[in-house]
Amino acid sequence: MDGCIFCMIAGGVIPSPKVYEDELMFIISDIYPKAKKHYLMIPKKHYKLLADMTEGDAADLSRCLKKLPDLAEGLGLTNGFRLIINQGTDAGQTVFHLHVHILGGEELPI
Ligand code: AMP
Ligand code: ZN
Repeated sequence: MDGCIFCMIAGGVIPSPKVYEDELMFIISDIYPKAKKHYLMIPKKHYKLLADMTEGDAADLSRCLKKLPDLAEGLGLTNGFRLIINQGTDAGQTVFHLHVHILGGEELPI
């Protein structure tokens, strides 16, 4: 998608080290971390919102989420992690390519 920063990272146009990548998604460190460990899990397919997902997108995202527990230790998330998906302006969404924040590496405030 033209002008989408996460599509540009996916395509290597903007360099950002991928800490994990497979056929469906990649994981990068958030450039402005809100916790000791702050990653973004980004589906390779561009869509803006949960509301835009096809059934296939939903199945793919589910598969991506299922992988996270196996990846957690390698990402330094040994004692758990928090997932956040911001949706829309009130939630503070700034990048309109669906992504999942992964926070941890420390005890997080409630
Ligand atoms: P959201 O506010 O939910 O849309 O999240 C977008 C996130 O992308 C923010 O936490 C930003 O810090 C992060 N971000 C924006 N540009 C980059 C980048 N080039 N590399 C890594 N993270 C980024
Ligand atoms: Zn995109």
